[in-house]
Amino acid sequence: MKNIKDYTIKELKEELEKLGEKPYRADQIFKWLYKENVTSFDEMTDLSLDLREKLKKEFDICNYNILEKQVSKDGTIKYLFDILDGNAIETVLMEYKYGKTICVSSQVGCKMGCKFCASTGIAFIRNLSAGEIVEEILAVEKDLQTKISNIVFMGIGEPLDNFDNVMRAIEIINYPKGLGIGARHISISTCGIVPKIYEIADKDMQCTLSISLHATNNEKRSSMMPINNLYSIEELMEACRYYIQKTNKRISFEYALAKDSNDNEQDAKELVKLLKGMLCHVNLIPINKIESGKYSKSTNENIIKFRDYLNSKGIVATIRRELGSDIDAACGQLRRKRREKEGRK
Ligand code: SAH
Repeated sequence: MKNIKDYTIKELKEELEKLGEKPYRADQIFKWLYKENVTSFDEMTDLSLDLREKLKKEFDICNYNILEKQVSKDGTIKYLFDILDGNAIETVLMEYKYGKTICVSSQVGCKMGCKFCASTGIAFIRNLSAGEIVEEILAVEKDLQTKISNIVFMGIGEPLDNFDNVMRAIEIINYPKGLGIGARHISISTCGIVPKIYEIADKDMQCTLSISLHATNNEKRSSMMPINNLYSIEELMEACRYYIQKTNKRISFEYALAKDSNDNEQDAKELVKLLKGMLCHVNLIPINKIESGKYSKSTNENIIKFRDYLNSKGIVATIRRELGSDIDAACGQLRRKRREKEGRK
């Protein structure tokens, strides 16, 4: 059956017209789904019984079950959701001063194969639909009886490898009579799917774009991130410059510092050269060591030195606060553990 959360407001209006109903009913349904967070059509009490029956015949309301929930001392909560087809995905909630942020997954597994990431080595299964992405937010809001203010596409999966569904999810999330989370409160993080960066630039969306850079030359970046063999650093930077010029928006470059790999003075110098003059910000991430990975975290001293060097050269850099380090915080860890327990990849 069709998942009603897959529909944008415009599409739902069209569906209702097909059913012989008034299009404004879609606004009522959006309110019930996204503001009231109901789990059944029976709860939509301002719709006629007849319409509720019609909807039940046409649509499902996708409601996730919580398989696991880990709560960190710092307030970070990690969920493993049963997405109703035998698969599981991770969603993380983080508390910041300015509100609650959800880190959503965009795919079941990931094809990108970044060497330092916990999602690597687990099979890619499928894309999440728009409604399945939106349900990550709703399931957390329901569990915590709270409202989410920010969304980051930094969970499992490569959002630009599931471009259409991610764009559709954002449209649904944006709609003021639904969740109403503005594009300015949404970040998309990519390992660098260059053609899609151009597409985003041309769409003139207000979302923040984060680029997972992690290395400053092709040899090093390709050894950490296979996508670099497809789109070189030069091509990536050109796309980033186009994005900035087109949108006048700052790009956030993610740089995970791994001991003796990409954290020395030479790397910092190359990074300055690469980003000089760009409207950007560097987010330094102390790398989360994954069990089978060869990359381990830089020393605190090195991380601070790296940041200070960038700042001294006029590149704004901050160190990402490590959240949830007492739970399985790094991307994919929870899902990976469960699958290992179950004896599958
Ligand atoms: N595929 C997207 C989004 C998912 S990863 C992307 O590549 O951007 C979200 C961020 O976490 C990326 O910057 C990614 O490089 C980083 N990341 C992945 N594994 C990590 C680890 N073990 N430690 C620290 N950061 C990690």
